[in-house]
Amino acid sequence: MQTKSWLKAGLFAAVATASFAAVPARAQGALVMYCGVQEEWCRAMSTAFEKDTGIKVAMTRKSAGEIYAQLKAESANPRGDIWWGGTGDPHLQAAEEGLTQEYESPVNKDLNDWAISQWTAAKKRSIGIYAGALGFGFNTQQIKQKGIPEPKCWADLLNAKLKDDVQVADPNSSGTAYNLLATVVQLMGEDKGFEYLKALHKNISQYTKSGAAPAKAASLGETAVGIVFIHDAVVFAVQGDPIKPVAPCEGTGYEIGSMSIVKGARNLDNAKKFYDWALTPAAQALAAPAKSYQVPSNKNAPVPAQSPKMSEMKLINYDFVKYGSSAERNRLLAKWDKEVKALP
Ligand code: PLP
Repeated sequence: MQTKSWLKAGLFAAVATASFAAVPARAQGALVMYCGVQEEWCRAMSTAFEKDTGIKVAMTRKSAGEIYAQLKAESANPRGDIWWGGTGDPHLQAAEEGLTQEYESPVNKDLNDWAISQWTAAKKRSIGIYAGALGFGFNTQQIKQKGIPEPKCWADLLNAKLKDDVQVADPNSSGTAYNLLATVVQLMGEDKGFEYLKALHKNISQYTKSGAAPAKAASLGETAVGIVFIHDAVVFAVQGDPIKPVAPCEGTGYEIGSMSIVKGARNLDNAKKFYDWALTPAAQALAAPAKSYQVPSNKNAPVPAQSPKMSEMKLINYDFVKYGSSAERNRLLAKWDKEVKALP
């Protein structure tokens, strides 16, 4: 397992098709945005963009796997213009399948290398907008009540005393949960990784649709552990909830949250305007006030004080090209459905 040199260098210091609000087909001043992060940040972005440009935004929040599936279902008659946010893997799959289109923003020159590496991997069809590491959050009171040591490692989540007390999302809908699947396979090797997921299944109470939901459940004590992006657990820790975020001791994966322009976008000029705007430091600074603590991709954007310090974690050399490829993502999801989810 190797850590990428640019990570070490401290760059990280720090289908169901929904019906959308009726947007006139070629209306001037409109943008249909599919948003893959938390609702509050999605709203902050669409409101600020409307205010800055006068362009009316019709925004819908969905999980990353769902947005990918929606673009595929709508490909003959695209309804969305911009896909903003969500893990990079399904953005890469959409790029490979021609569901999104090439664009080179003048702001690219101000972005961190990892954001440009997503753009290169996607053949210019997707760009990195933020980064965050995968881990889990545990409810300190619940763990104390169970009389078990605080979990620090992936292996600790297999403790039989956590039966029916761990939550994670379903990787078919959630980018977070697919990131877990790909992380475990890369960290442990495919056979051992699937053994781990099967053993973990015994402790899973439910596979949620949205990736961040298990963090909220852990903060409320509805589950002892929620497997999430670490920044999603930090949200509740900073507001004083009894949840502790953990970067697993064996090492972990990470996401390059991404943005792509939909192929055949009806409001293409506005999609490009949004794309350029969303990469600016001012737009990226909207994350922290909306309680989102990812590391921003623009080098000049402030890194939120609450952001987990990725440079201090053991990060795997996540192979975004391989695990974001259509063949690999489809294969792993089908295997997970058959060998893990189908278990009693
Ligand atoms: N929420 C936040 C704050 C995220 O950073 C991400 C990942 O990019 C997600 C949600 C992903 O959501 P989901 O796992 O539901 O696709």
